[in-house]
Amino acid sequence: MPLQFYDTRKRRKIPFKPLTAGRVKMYTCGPTVYKDATIGNFRTYMFEDLLRRTLQFLGYEVTQVMNITDVDDKTIREAHSLEVPLSDITEPVIKRFFRDIDSLKIEHAEYYPRATDYIPEMIELIKRLLDNGNAYIMDTNVYYSIASFPEYGRLSGMKLDKLERGVRINADEYEKEDFRDFALWKGWTEEDGDIWWESPWGRGRPGWHIECSALSMKFLGEEFDLHTGGVDNIFPHHENEIAQSVAATGKSFARHWMHSAHLMVEGEKMSKSLGNDYTLKSLREKVEGKGYYFSIAAFRLALLSTHYRKPLDFSVEDFLVENRLALVRLWLLRNAAELAILDGGIRPEIEIAIENAQTHFKSALEDDLNISASLASLFILVTEVNRLKSVRGLTKSEGKRLLEQWREFDKVLGVLFWDEEDEEDEELQSKIEVKVRERLRARLERRFDDADRIRDELKGNGYQLDDGKDETVVIWSGGRKIVKNKINNS
Ligand code: AMP
Ligand code: ZN
Repeated sequence: MPLQFYDTRKRRKIPFKPLTAGRVKMYTCGPTVYKDATIGNFRTYMFEDLLRRTLQFLGYEVTQVMNITDVDDKTIREAHSLEVPLSDITEPVIKRFFRDIDSLKIEHAEYYPRATDYIPEMIELIKRLLDNGNAYIMDTNVYYSIASFPEYGRLSGMKLDKLERGVRINADEYEKEDFRDFALWKGWTEEDGDIWWESPWGRGRPGWHIECSALSMKFLGEEFDLHTGGVDNIFPHHENEIAQSVAATGKSFARHWMHSAHLMVEGEKMSKSLGNDYTLKSLREKVEGKGYYFSIAAFRLALLSTHYRKPLDFSVEDFLVENRLALVRLWLLRNAAELAILDGGIRPEIEIAIENAQTHFKSALEDDLNISASLASLFILVTEVNRLKSVRGLTKSEGKRLLEQWREFDKVLGVLFWDEEDEEDEELQSKIEVKVRERLRARLERRFDDADRIRDELKGNGYQLDDGKDETVVIWSGGRKIVKNKINNS
C-alpha cells in the first residue's frame, strides 16, 4: 500500500509524496517556554516522534524543525509579573523541556531555532507582506489583512463571508469568533518592559504566527512537505501561517498538514483550575503518591498507542495497569530471545511469524500511522513465539533473529529495549534479589517445592521469572532485573 496520511486541509487521507524523493522536510510547532510542558503537549510531541520514526523506518531521510517560542504574550506576561528578564523565565524551562523529551525517548529534531534569534528574518517577512499589500500599519503595529487573502479559512473551514474588514486583534491566541486581522508586529507598550527590538515601524516585537512562517521557510525553504501540531493550532495559528507564507512567496508553503487530537484527563479538558494539567514531574508525584512505581516506558507507550487523530482520554489507573502489562508481555519476548540456548536453526514457523509481523507492522503504519494495528502485530508474534517456545524452547539462532526484528520494531516504538532497573528503588531491588537467590538455592538443593513456592509468591506479586542457564531475569510492571545464577557457597 502506498504511504498515506490524513491531511487536515483536504479532510481525507491522501498519498504522501515528498517534494524530493526519499527526503522529508517537516516543521513541528514547538513549546512556548513560559512554563513546563504538560502531558498534553507530550501527546503531540509523541505523535510527531512516531511520525518521524515511521518515516525513517520507511527509508526516508527526515529534516525536522521544532521552534522554541521564547517570546510571546505568555512569556512576556510571566517575565513582567515576576519582574525578571525574559531569559530568566525561558532558559530553565528550555532545559527541562529537553530533559523531559529525553526521558520519554522522543528523538531530537535536526533544528530547534529560538524565536528571539531570528527577529530580523521575521521583520523581512513582514516587509514583504507590506510590499505585496497583504499588511498595513496602524499606529506602531503592523496587521495582516485577511481580506487580502481569499483562501483564508480553508484549513480550518471558516467562511470569509461574515468577515468585517479591518477589525483587528492583538492577542497571539484567540478564538474562532474573533477571526479578524491579526498582529504581525506589535509596537512596544508598557507591559513589555525592556523586551523590544528595533524595526522599521519602531520598537516592538513580532506576533507569534509570523515566527513559524519565518522559521519554517528559513530552515526548510518556501515549500516543504509536512507541517504538524495539535488540533488547537489549526485556528488561528496555522491558518495565519498559511496566509502569511503563501501571500509573501506565492508558493504553496507546507504541502501536507497533520494534527493530533488532544489529550484529556479522566474525561476533562486539561486545565490549571482542575489541577489536572500535569507535567511529567507532577504526574510522577501523583502516581508515586498512589503507591505505584512510575514507569516512564509505560507512559511513553500510553501516549503512543492511541491513534493520533483520536482524543486520548488519559487515566492514571488505566495507564498504570494496561500499558505496564502490555509492556511486560513485550519485554518477555526480548528475554526469551536473549536467554535462548538451544542449538539448531530457525524453525520455519518462527520465520513466517516474524515476516507476517513485519509486513503488518509496516503496512499499518503506512496507513496514516495505524499504531494499534502495528502493535497488534507484535502481540500476535509474541503469542506465536510463546507457543513454539513451550513446544521446544528457543534456539540461539531463533533468539538472534527475534532480537534483530525486535530492534527493527523498536526504531519506531522506542519501548522494547528499556531497562528501568536503574530507576527502580534499591530496597525493592535487593528484596527481589534475595527471593530469587533463595529460590536458586532451593533448586540447587533439590527442594523443588520450596523453589516453586517462591516462584508463585513472586508471581502473585507481579514478578515473572524467566530462567536462563547463567541468569534469571525478573520482569515486573516497573522494570526488569537480571540476577546471576551463580551462587557462592558461603
Ligand atoms: P504550546 O506550548 O501551548 O504552544 O503547545 C505546544 C504543542 O502542544 C502544540 O502543538 C499544541 O497544539 C500541543 N498541545 C497543547 N495542549 C495539548 C493537549 N491537551 N493535547 C495535545 N496536544 C496539546
Ligand atoms: Zn507554530
